[in-house]
Amino acid sequence: EKRAKQAMLEAHELVSKLYHYVLTETPYGVEAMKYLTKRGMSRQTLTEYQIGFAPDSWDFVTQFLKKRSFSQDLMVEAGLLAKSEAGKVFDRFRGRVMFPIHDSQGHVIGFGGRLLDNTHPKSSQPKYLNSPESLLFNKSATLFNLHRARSTMRKRKQALLFEGYVDVVSAWQAGFMQGVATLGTALTEQQARILRRNVESVVLCYDGDAAGQEATSKAIHVLQQAGLIVRVAPLPQGVDPDDYIRQHGAEAFSQQVLLQAMPVTAFRLKHLRSQYVINDETDKTRLIAKAVEIINELDSPVERDLYQRQLAEEYSLTLGDLKWESKRAYKQQ
Ligand code: ATP
Ligand code: MN
Ligand code: MN
Ligand code: MN
Repeated sequence: EKRAKQAMLEAHELVSKLYHYVLTETPYGVEAMKYLTKRGMSRQTLTEYQIGFAPDSWDFVTQFLKKRSFSQDLMVEAGLLAKSEAGKVFDRFRGRVMFPIHDSQGHVIGFGGRLLDNTHPKSSQPKYLNSPESLLFNKSATLFNLHRARSTMRKRKQALLFEGYVDVVSAWQAGFMQGVATLGTALTEQQARILRRNVESVVLCYDGDAAGQEATSKAIHVLQQAGLIVRVAPLPQGVDPDDYIRQHGAEAFSQQVLLQAMPVTAFRLKHLRSQYVINDETDKTRLIAKAVEIINELDSPVERDLYQRQLAEEYSLTLGDLKWESKRAYKQQ
């Protein structure tokens, strides 16, 4: 098993170099290069992240690995190659921009591959294709970019958590180097524990859409369970961190997004308001009751008081009434 793992590591290292070479030095990479340049990625970023391109071929990597005498079955297991039902082995990644994924020591253990654009003739295929789980690649225990982000994270005592690889890369290019991302799956306990070993607090920078909000709610819980202080960065509707940085620049991302990150209770109250349509007093009362529940979950009486005052002001209630409502809700639990 150790031998197999070693061979898989070696193959990943070689193939990541190959993809990067194809992107930056060959005619096969020209279109992808244009695409990445249009997306604002600098040459330095492409080098630092070893971003590459998998040519649109069924056997480019297959032949490359064969020549170097790697076992085909092992390479299928590692997810670099795939096997048809008829037993034919072929390249798993074709016509995709390739983002190498590293373990905490900086070894390449997998890839995320993105189609060139959304109107590609193959758009019936998923936008992102990731390496499968393998001996090497345990998605639930890996964070994209951890090995690069770790030192900045520790210095700042804070990590930025994104949804997508591109968000991490874009933030890094703009000077925010403490960013990591999950690998197309929900944040796991293991990933939260890894973060906790490095930092005290996490700023969640998920996409500004419904899916991002839902994922944020879930991630908050997992991060808090691991003992992390969580804040939520506000992104405009329909905008993700990469979009934001490209539209508004690094300074705005720092001032208007990261520095405006909300404590969890503020996020949950805002999320609550966005979910309710208020037509009459009954709706309003229900919303206030829910808000009271959220505020009651706070351990600190001072913090509870602060949010109660805000809520009272927002709905023109007396603080006394609100506190009374709050005690009643508390007793009902
Ligand atoms: P881009 O800006 O290139 O469209 P993105 O990071 O904004 O990329 P999202 O659609 O927001 O892409 O998805 C966020 C992350 O979710 C991706 O980085 C990827 O890890 C994962 N993901 C998205 N679509 C898929 C998919 N079809 N299969 C697997 N993972 C996916
Ligand atoms: Mn998204
Ligand atoms: Mn996105
Ligand atoms: Mn995006």
